[in-house]
Amino acid sequence: IPVDPFDLVIFGGTGDLARRKILPGLFRRFLAGQMPPESRVIGAARSEYGDDEYRAEVKAALEEFIAKDSRPAKDVKAFLDRIHYVAIDATGKAGWSDLKKLLRSDVVQAFYFSVAPSLFGPLAERLHEWKCAVKDARIVVEKPFGRDLESARALNRTLGDHFDESQIYRIDHYLGKETVQNLMAVRFGNMLFEPLWNAQYVDHVQITVAETVGVNGRGAYYDKSGAMRDMVQNHLMQLLCLIAMEPPSRFDPDAVRDEKLKVIRALDPVDKNDIVRGQYVSEEDGESYLEQVEDPDSLTESFIAMKLNISNWRWAGVPFYLRTGKKLKARASEIAIVFKDAPHSIFGQELGRHRNILAIRLQPNEGITLGVTIKEPGPGGMRLVDVPLDMTFKDALGPDGDEIPDAYERLIMDVIRGNQTLFMRGDEVEAAWAWTDPLIKGWIERGERPKSYDVGSTGPEDAAVLMHREGRKWRDIK
Ligand code: NAD
Repeated sequence: IPVDPFDLVIFGGTGDLARRKILPGLFRRFLAGQMPPESRVIGAARSEYGDDEYRAEVKAALEEFIAKDSRPAKDVKAFLDRIHYVAIDATGKAGWSDLKKLLRSDVVQAFYFSVAPSLFGPLAERLHEWKCAVKDARIVVEKPFGRDLESARALNRTLGDHFDESQIYRIDHYLGKETVQNLMAVRFGNMLFEPLWNAQYVDHVQITVAETVGVNGRGAYYDKSGAMRDMVQNHLMQLLCLIAMEPPSRFDPDAVRDEKLKVIRALDPVDKNDIVRGQYVSEEDGESYLEQVEDPDSLTESFIAMKLNISNWRWAGVPFYLRTGKKLKARASEIAIVFKDAPHSIFGQELGRHRNILAIRLQPNEGITLGVTIKEPGPGGMRLVDVPLDMTFKDALGPDGDEIPDAYERLIMDVIRGNQTLFMRGDEVEAAWAWTDPLIKGWIERGERPKSYDVGSTGPEDAAVLMHREGRKWRDIK
């Protein structure tokens, strides 16, 4: 279904994110017929380009990030016709009157802040000052949203001075993933799961976001942030909220976000013994974390594993284990709901322990499986085996899921439609920082050095111990 005609301005339109995700995503939506003919995409960045030079850049980005047979020349041309460019300075005066002249007031206006976070405030101020934005214009704000509670509050205040909360779209691309939304469909669209979704039946929950890449090239930025700020405070926290929240009364922005906020507020402070931080090391020259950042003594973590407790009736006593890191053995993001053992095994102990696990895989190969125990086929007597019940409609989505829209393209269309359900509200972000800040402060005050882990491993040994000491085990990263 096409959205309403729009003008989408991408501040930072020549940057990495715009080239890799935003522009290719918009092109795919264009191919899908979602972009009405009157819509335009306006790149706005520092380079002194004209429309034609920027179109050449956009064309090159599409060639790099979209397979050849998915971009027929005539479609690329038609898409490029809708692309415009304004050279602009986010911190000065240059370009703003040009942008104002170009914008139309009778279409949906959206401004995507795909620039360094230090420019988020100046952009909001200038949009206001130059009266570029119409009354219901939307702004899309990239991560990171602050680096602690204080900076997030300050940013919320600055944005709030010029835009209403209903106009602000704080992006967390994990929420745009198909399976994350499918998680909500599975949970709230079926009778089967919700009755089991509590401390009585769930043993624990694991959330893993494992990367194989290191910090190469981004070392200076990453070292000031670390895994807690870069991944846990936002992405893992959002996933945790969707799993743990109470059923909202409607699938609408504030109903969903109210429930997520309650989860964050119900998080207990985390004991220092329930946190394991790590830094990757390698025998190869230049491959260790400390060789890839400026400070050779850096105490910043490239890995973190932790055990969280949610203090409410539904989840009391059910640990949520979170783990994320760089340079691990595989790139895999997964949420696993591990159910309790059946209360009594009629098959006897020798047939082993079998547990139902609902695994929600976010990347790669998005999909949801439910591990169920069945009898191993054949005449060999009663043997039990765990098989995955595949809840992904692979046939409908293409054999390798390549027709699943990328998170960014879905989220951008939600912005144009004015649907904030999959975006973080200001109070949610602040609550997440309020929970994160004391933990970070704690390990800084203690001067804690992260544990070493080998490149290509599953993280420091202590992360495994975090589980083992309670008779549990991380799922393999694969
Ligand atoms: P980048 O450095 O590649 O691009 C920055 C863009 O900002 C360029 O287009 C540049 O011209 C423009 N710019 C810089 N100073 C400007 C000024 N004074 N006035 C106008 N334009 C100016 O950055 P990026 O990697 O594309 O990241 C953009 C934002 O997205 C950042 O907030 C980043 O944290 C976030 N982000 C990026 C990625 C990614 O994969 N690249 C992923 C998640 C979030």
